[in-house]
Amino acid sequence: YCANEPNSIVSDACVSFSTLEKLNSDLRPAIKYLTESVDFFTFYRLDLYGRECPFWSDDEGFCGNRACAVDIADEKDIPESWRSSELGKLSGPRASQPSTSVQKEEPSPFRGKLGEDTAESCVFEPNEIDKRDYCVPEDESGGSNCVYVSLVDNPERFTGYAGKSANNVWRAVYQENCFNTNAQKSQASPLGGSPLGGPAAAGLKNVMGRRKHEVVQQDLIAPPPEEQCLEKRVFYRVLSGMHASISMHLCYDFLNQTTGKWGPNLQCYKDRLHNYPDRIQNMYFNYAILLRAVAKLRNNLKSYTFCSGDKRTDEMTRKKITGLSDAIASHPSVFDESIMFRDEDAVVLKEDFRNRFRNVSRLMDCVGCDKCRLWGKIQTAGYGTAMKVLFEYDEAAENGANPALRRTELVALVNTLGRLSKSLHAFTVFSSMIEKERVLEE
Ligand code: FAD
Repeated sequence: YCANEPNSIVSDACVSFSTLEKLNSDLRPAIKYLTESVDFFTFYRLDLYGRECPFWSDDEGFCGNRACAVDIADEKDIPESWRSSELGKLSGPRASQPSTSVQKEEPSPFRGKLGEDTAESCVFEPNEIDKRDYCVPEDESGGSNCVYVSLVDNPERFTGYAGKSANNVWRAVYQENCFNTNAQKSQASPLGGSPLGGPAAAGLKNVMGRRKHEVVQQDLIAPPPEEQCLEKRVFYRVLSGMHASISMHLCYDFLNQTTGKWGPNLQCYKDRLHNYPDRIQNMYFNYAILLRAVAKLRNNLKSYTFCSGDKRTDEMTRKKITGLSDAIASHPSVFDESIMFRDEDAVVLKEDFRNRFRNVSRLMDCVGCDKCRLWGKIQTAGYGTAMKVLFEYDEAAENGANPALRRTELVALVNTLGRLSKSLHAFTVFSSMIEKERVLEE
C-alpha cells in the first residue's frame, strides 16, 4: 500500500492524506463534542504561573497584550471532587489509575468523604514522575499554584506573542532534537538534575549566553536527514507538527486589527505553512499518532474513573470517549508503533527520547504569553501522553499492569487531538481559499 502510492502517503505513518481527511470528517463531530461540551475534557488544572523557566531568565519576554491573558475558572464551576480545597485535604496512599484493585484491597481512610461513589483516584493523582513519563506532570494533587482553566473560554488563537522570546523557545525546542549519534553516550538531562545536557544543551547555552538584547537570527535546527533512524525522525516530526498546528490556529483565528474581527488570515497561512509542505505533512503525522494512541486506550477507558461526582455524567463521559476510541479502532490502524525502539540500542535510545521530550515540556514554562503557555503545556502534555501510551502501554494487558494515566494526561491527549482535528479542517478551508484566488487570477 505504501509502496503503491508514495506521494499520497504521510511519511513514517503509512496512511494517506486523504484517508486521514476522511477520518477527520467522520470523527470531528465526536471530538468537538468532547472538547467543547463535556466538563471532564473542558477544564484543565495546571500550574500556569508558579514555575520559573528552568533554562534562562527572560524578564522582558512577557506578553502584555489582552489576547495573551487567560481567564481563570471560578472553582464554584468545577465539580466538587476536583476542587483544590478537596484535593488539598488529602494525603495518604496514592491510588493508581484505574485503581479498582487498590481500592478493593486497601480502603482509604478518606474514602466516603466525597460521596460513596468517589474513587480514591478521583481526588489524589500521582504527581511524581514515573520513569515511563514523557512529560513533567502538572501538579494535580492540590499544589497552591494550580488553577483551573476552561479551555472553551480560552481558545488557542492569535495573541501577538512573537520576537526574541518566542523565537528562543522554538529554537530550544528544536535543539532538543539534536540526538547524539551514538545513543550509548547519551547525556540527556536526568530528571531533577541539571536540566539540559549533551550537545543540545551546549547549543542552547551558546544561544542563551548572548547579550540579553541581541536578536538571534540563525536558522532553527534543520530536520534530520531521511537516513536517520525512524525514532529520531519521529521526534522531529512531532515537534514540527505541533509548531505547524499552533501556526495554523493563530492564522485561522487571527485578529484583524482594522475591523476588530477574528477570522482566517490567508497571508499568515501562506507565510507560515502553505510554502512548507513538510510542516503540513508533520501535522498530519501527528494526527495519525494521536488517533492511534486514543484507539490504543480503548480497554483502559472502559474502567477509567471520571469523578464528576455524578454517576450519570460519568457514564455519559465514558460513553462518549469510548465511542470515539472504538470508532477510531474500527478503521485500519494509521500508525504502527511496534516497529519503533527495536534495535539493540533501543533501551538507551528510548530513555534519551523520553528525557528530551521532558525537556520540551519544561520549556513551556519559558513561554512569555499566558495563553500560549497554557496551550503549549496542554499540547506537550498531549503528545507526551500519546508517546507514553504508544511506547509503554501493552494493549492486551490488564489495566493495572500499564502505567497510571492521570486526569491531566487524558484531558491533554483528547484536547491535543482536538487541536489537530481543527488544524486539518483549517487546512481544507485555507486550501479552498487559495484555489478560489487561483481561479480569480486566471
Ligand atoms: P515562528 O513560528 O516563531 O518560527 C520560528 C522559526 O521556526 C521559523 O522562522 C522557521 O525557521 C521555523 N519553523 C516555523 N514553523 C516550523 C515548523 N512547523 N516546523 C519546523 N520549523 C518551523 N502565538 C500566537 O499568536 N498564539 C499562540 O497560541 C501561540 N502559541 C505559542 C506557543 C509556543 C509554545 C510558542 C513558543 C509560541 C507561541 N506563539 C503563539 C508564537 C508563535 O508560535 C510564533 O513564534 C510567533 O507568531 C512569531 O512567528 P515567526 O514568524 O517569527 O515564526
